[in-house]
Order: sequence, then C-alpha cells, then structure tokens
Amino acid sequence: MRLTNSLTMKKEELAPYEPGKIRMYTCGPTVYDYAHIGNLRSYMMEDVLEKALTYLGYQVDRVMNITDVGHLTSDADSGEDKMLKGAKREHKTAMEIARFYTQAFFADCKKLNIRRPDTVVPATGCIGDFIEMVSALLEKGYAYKAGGNVYFDTSRLENYYVFGNQSGDDLAVGVREGVEADGNKRNKADFVLWFTKSKFEDQELKWESPWGLGYPGWHIECSAISIKNLGEYLDIHCGGIDNAFPHHTNEIAQSEAYLGHPWCKYWFHVLHLNDAGGKISKSKGAKLTVSLLEEKGYNPLAYRLFCLQSHYRKPLAFSFESLDNAAQAYQKLIARIGALGEGEPDQAAAKPYQEKFREALGNDLNTSQAITVLYDMLKSPLDDGTKRWLAGDFDQVLGLDLLAAAQREGQPEAQASPELKAEIQALIQKRAEARKAKDWAAADAIRDELAARHVVVKDTAGGVEWHIEA
Ligand code: AMP
Ligand code: ZN
Repeated sequence: MRLTNSLTMKKEELAPYEPGKIRMYTCGPTVYDYAHIGNLRSYMMEDVLEKALTYLGYQVDRVMNITDVGHLTSDADSGEDKMLKGAKREHKTAMEIARFYTQAFFADCKKLNIRRPDTVVPATGCIGDFIEMVSALLEKGYAYKAGGNVYFDTSRLENYYVFGNQSGDDLAVGVREGVEADGNKRNKADFVLWFTKSKFEDQELKWESPWGLGYPGWHIECSAISIKNLGEYLDIHCGGIDNAFPHHTNEIAQSEAYLGHPWCKYWFHVLHLNDAGGKISKSKGAKLTVSLLEEKGYNPLAYRLFCLQSHYRKPLAFSFESLDNAAQAYQKLIARIGALGEGEPDQAAAKPYQEKFREALGNDLNTSQAITVLYDMLKSPLDDGTKRWLAGDFDQVLGLDLLAAAQREGQPEAQASPELKAEIQALIQKRAEARKAKDWAAADAIRDELAARHVVVKDTAGGVEWHIEA
C-alpha cells in the first residue's frame, strides 16, 4: 500500500511499526452542530482507507475521539468554546448538545455506510489523562504557566513546523492571520494545553486541576486519547487538511515531547469539499447536510459514489448538477448489477479483477480507478455469477450497498411507476386518517382497495410499511 504522507508530501510504501498491523487514529467531530457533507467527505475517505487496509490483509485498530470540549471558534486559542456556542444557540446544556449531535453524526455516517470506528472516545471522559500529560510536559520543561493558563513552549523544538515543506495551497497556514495576539505566550506559535483563564467567563464545562478550575485545550485531547488507546507508536493519523495546521502540528509537538521519541509515521489528509463560495464550513451557515440531500430526493449513497469518483488528495467541487450525474450513475450501476443472473462464481476467473482492484487501492487509495475496475469487470466476458460475486467483494471497500440495492431494485415496488407509488401513498394516508377517526369500516375498505392492487400493508412501530405481492 502506498499513501501520500503529508510529512514528506510523497507517496510512501506503508511500513507499519508492527508488520501486518495498523494503528489508526482519526480526529472526530466537534459535536456542536450537524456535520456537513464536507466533514463527511473526510470521514468517508478515512472509512474507505480503513476498509481498503482490511481488504489488503492488514489488521486495523482504529480510534476516534469526540470533541465535546475545548475546540474554540478560532483554531489559534481564541474565541469561545464551540460547544458553548451550540448550547447558547439551542438553550441547552453543553452535554445535551454533545449527546444530540454525536447521535446525529453517527446516524449520518450510517446512511453513508461509514463504519463506526472500533473505539470512540468522548474527550470529557478523559480529563484525568489530559491533566497527566500536561503535568508531564511541565515537568519536562516543554510547558509553562502564564496568566492562569498552561502553554506549550514551541521554542523548545528544533522543528515545530513539520508540515512546513509542503508546497501548494493545501496547507491551511493562514488560519492564524487576524487572530489577536495572546500576551501570555512566550512565542507566537505557543498554544494552550490547559485553560483556566479566558476571555469568556461563562464556560460551562470545567474541572479541577493542579492549575485551577478549567478545561483542556483541543490539541491535547487527540494526543492523549491516541496514546492511551493505541500506545506510543501510531501508524496513521487522519483528518481533513485544515487540521494539518495548527491542530496536527501541535499534536506532534506535544506527543513527541511527552514520549521522547517519534510518534506517528503517516499523516493522511483529505482535501476539502468546496462549493461555489469556497470551503464548506459549519460556521458559514450553509447547511449542506445529509438530511438536506435526502429532502431533495437523493440517496446518500449517490453522494458516496460522488466522493469515490475523485481522489482524496484533490479538492472536490460540489454542485447539485454534479451530484445529479453521480445519482444517475449510481442508479444505472445498481440496475446493471440487479440484472445479473445468479450462479456459482468462478474464483480463478475473478482473481485478475481482484488483483486490479487491489492495485488501484494500493496506489494511494485511487478510488476512482477502483470504480473503473468495477465497470470494466461488469463489461467483461465473465459470467453473471462471478460478476455478482465480485461486485459484493469490491463493495466491502466501496460501501455502495451494491448487492442489497440491486436486490431491492428487482422487487415489484421498485418497478412501480412514480404515479402508482403516489396513489398508494395517498390511499395509505387516507387509511391512517380513517383509523385515527376510528372509522374502522372505511379503513378496512381502503385496505381491500389496496389488496385488489396486490399491495400488502403492515403497521409497524416505525410507521406503515408496504410492498407489492409478486
Ligand atoms: P470538525 O467537526 O469541525 O472538528 O471537523 C471534522 C472534520 O471535517 C475534520 O477532519 C476537518 O478537517 C474536516 N473538514 C472540515 N471542513 C471540511 C471540508 N469542507 N471538506 C472536507 N473536510 C472538512
Ligand atoms: Zn485531533
């Protein structure tokens, strides 16, 4: 497996600390609002990376945090805690906000077939670990107290700007511009490890510490959670490109200072999803969410295909026109697989296609190439049983529900015309109203009318389900 490592900006052959095993850490969501589809591009490509590594035979151990405290509105330690901002907006407590948006995040992930990492750790559950790490950094002379806060001293490092050799526009080095200087800092690049004093006094989440009542900085969360759950040697650390600086740069600084040796070998960064107005961001107010896509009639997996069609290391321009193209391609793909006959797969004949699929994944996670292998395979002279089997095999990585969706496609209700579907929905609605009015005779009459059209209705806890009897 070759991956572009942000430390060198080169495609490097993956050589994990322990052969065959990958320890992988992902910066989780800041749970103060819904994730937008840009955030989810990052999580999706990280999901594909995990699945590709597993497909290629690695044993992957993956950890993700949930940022439910400490991420300020500016990445450079100023502004207010994003959680507090969310809580104020919705007149709820920060923990209520965290619970709600954590659930919403995983619900979105499920719709996009993004697997929940093995270990998911909310930051508020690890305060003792952060305090332990900050204490050790103070003891080693890598940190200092000033104005009530604890800061990391970047002047102690020979090379703080580890991603500094990067060229091009994909490093978010501009984030510090326009940020007010913090007079407590000895060096401009120093960052807060623990806050007890900040410009806002109404921070809701605070804990006792050796430095007073306060809360952790965002960066320390990821270092401490990663080291606690994955040990002192990390193979792959993932995140969106905006996290490279300052977040990941700071994670490296404090982790290596704390451990006294190199920490993470490979940095996997996903480039941004942009719309016509630039980078899609939570604070911009444009709520491009999975729910919005669904409201507009898109299957979330069409968005997954849209993302897979381009490389994770390239910025991706979003528009509804290009999503329409992906949605059409998805529909065609499913119909094509749905039309395949059944049969025993010919494993020997399948092998060369598996080999090509592995090559595409191994070449810096070239997902669009992997999709091309899928199309080539469907066009090939292979028999239907083998094609169907290979589609299922590839889907372990692609996560497009290829076989399940194709099966649904073959069912009579999927074939029903939009007019017939609307008619059935109207009858179901009329029946629900009759039942509500306790007009059982009318409700039964509608049920009979539906039955005459071979429509079987079933009342479930989640609402009315229906299907057409073949
Ligand atoms: P947050 O919840 O704001 O901490 O961000 C969650 C993840 O989404 C991080 O890995 C970010 O780097 C990433 N991210 C933020 N904006 C975008 C975007 N427009 N496109 C892709 N990834 C993004
Ligand atoms: Zn992080």
